[in-house]
Amino acid sequence: MKVRNKIIVVTGGGNGIGRELILHLLAQGARVAAADISENGLKETEELAGANKDKLSTHVVNMADRAAVEALPEQVVARHGAVDGIINNAGIIQPFVRIKDLDYAAIERVMNVNFYGVLYMVKAFLPHLLKRPEAHIANVSSMGGFLPVPGQSVYGASKAAVKLMTEGLYAEMMGTSVRVTLVYPGAIGTNITANSGVSVPGQDRASGEQKFKPLPPAKAAEIIVAGIEADKYEVFVGRDSAFLNFFYRLSPKRAAEFISKQMASLLSG
Ligand code: NAD
Repeated sequence: MKVRNKIIVVTGGGNGIGRELILHLLAQGARVAAADISENGLKETEELAGANKDKLSTHVVNMADRAAVEALPEQVVARHGAVDGIINNAGIIQPFVRIKDLDYAAIERVMNVNFYGVLYMVKAFLPHLLKRPEAHIANVSSMGGFLPVPGQSVYGASKAAVKLMTEGLYAEMMGTSVRVTLVYPGAIGTNITANSGVSVPGQDRASGEQKFKPLPPAKAAEIIVAGIEADKYEVFVGRDSAFLNFFYRLSPKRAAEFISKQMASLLSG
């Protein structure tokens, strides 16, 4: 779906990739409804939108709150008149610990935001999208949604759930006006760790060993919007994501062992 003159909802628009998606979409001539749990983050995004501010609305919503997400379509339609697309980008990581040390509060938080949040958005907006001559849903998974990363196993499970749900949704939407795109970012240079309330033991050592430089979020946003405009089934954001997808398909076990060695310094004890 071409984004020019379309009305697009972006979740997690108060920071990182979501913010850059919004700025890029506005620059491409779209109208945008930005949703985020962080009111301050949304204010900053609005300031950065500059002259395009009048094409942007902001909505403070916790994606894990079903009733709040279900109220969002009405707010967006009231402000913009319709809705043509949603980009489900809001997400958090888990503390860098093994499953045995991860408490249920953290597990539920990650699943509620990353998986249920996307599900609530899809179910809330689908009736509106299906009325449009053309519409688009883009769901942001992660390379951690196909590749097992020790210390992020439940995050990975939440993103794998997004992957399978989105692939099923793609198949269900065949023959309708709704196109569906699945996005797998690799390492992107955002503050997701701090924003998720997570500290990373041994971070400096780990980044020194990184084979791939994190991609700037503005570049990630360009790649994602280009994927939506080309109605891509899946978009691998960054060479790391594309390479690890290839490696994982070749040998899931060897890929798991490779990434485990890469991440060893992030897990203490
Ligand atoms: P970020 O922390 O910079 O931005 C995420 C935004 O989501 C923040 O503004 C935050 O306030 C918002 N958010 C968090 N919980 C929310 C909730 N419950 N309701 C509404 N908004 C909420 O993170 P990012 O790096 O830009 O990540 C964006 C997406 O990309 C996430 O889904 C993440 O899992 C995915 N991703 C990121 C990377 C990476 O390396 N940064 C890699 C793979 C996948």
